[in-house]
Amino acid sequence: MIFTQEHEALRRTIHQFVDHEINPHVEEWEKAGRFPIHEIFRKAGNLGLLGISKPEKFGGMGLDYSYSIVAAEEFGTIHCGGIPMSIGVQTDMCTPALARFGSDELRDEFLRPAISGEQVGCIGVSEVGAGSDVAGLKTTARKDGDDYVINGSKMWITNSPSADFICLLANTSDDKPHINKSLIMVPMNTPGISLSSHLDKLGMRSSETAQVFSTTCACRSATASAMKARGS
Ligand SMILES: Cc1cc2nc3c(=O)[nH]c(=O)nc-3n(C[C@H](O)[C@H](O)[C@H](O)COP(=O)(O)OP(=O)(O)OC[C@H]3O[C@@H](n4cnc5c(N)ncnc54)[C@H](O)[C@@H]3O)c2cc1C
Repeated sequence: MIFTQEHEALRRTIHQFVDHEINPHVEEWEKAGRFPIHEIFRKAGNLGLLGISKPEKFGGMGLDYSYSIVAAEEFGTIHCGGIPMSIGVQTDMCTPALARFGSDELRDEFLRPAISGEQVGCIGVSEVGAGSDVAGLKTTARKDGDDYVINGSKMWITNSPSADFICLLANTSDDKPHINKSLIMVPMNTPGISLSSHLDKLGMRSSETAQVFSTTCACRSATASAMKARGS
């Protein structure tokens, strides 16, 4: 692929951001097992770097995915794996389905602040008994009046100790395991959501990781149904 001047301008912006705001601190953050994620995401958001290929309507740049590839290459020059992974969770794991299938209400609440860097997101798919075999996950989200009541736990959840919301995959019916799932946007301060202690890793140390538990956490059904009805 041939990169244009616009691609190269984006590359320079990210290169400077990484050089000035991140790389000088990597050693310290890797030792500490965390980095100031809210501060770094806000700075990245101010530069537009968390919404490169997200819709302009919600604060994104609306560019095609080739620009996100350039960003991934440049974030790859960070002197550790944890921070690029943490940024990737925000831009390419917990928000793409939301951007594509979420209702406008949902996107205003979660996508807009994720793009601006005001909120940190995480993605909850893996479980103790379901990693590669995602179809085997056991977390359930059952309809109860206007709510979905979510029970289960998610393992190895990057960003979760600092996250404002989780995009969580759960079984919403007893149908076949490949078609009974929905992604549900859940604010992390919802009663019933709790975290394990910080999981101390050998690598990717500066990204925070924990287990997320949901014990009869009640989440508005509009949130869940928006992602299912338009995504299936
Ligand atoms: C640092 C870190 C951060 C993470 N962050 C997140 C996160 O934010 N959100 C989230 O949801 N998850 C996260 N995960 C979980 C990650 O996605 C899972 O670890 C991954 O899906 C693998 O699942 P598992 O660990 O259960 O391994 P398993 O699925 O048990 O796999 C173990 C081994 O068996 C192999 N294997 C599995 N199935 C097959 C098969 N059918 N044929 C051949 N080989 C097979 C695998 O390749 C692997 O080598 C994170 C993990 C780590 C280590």
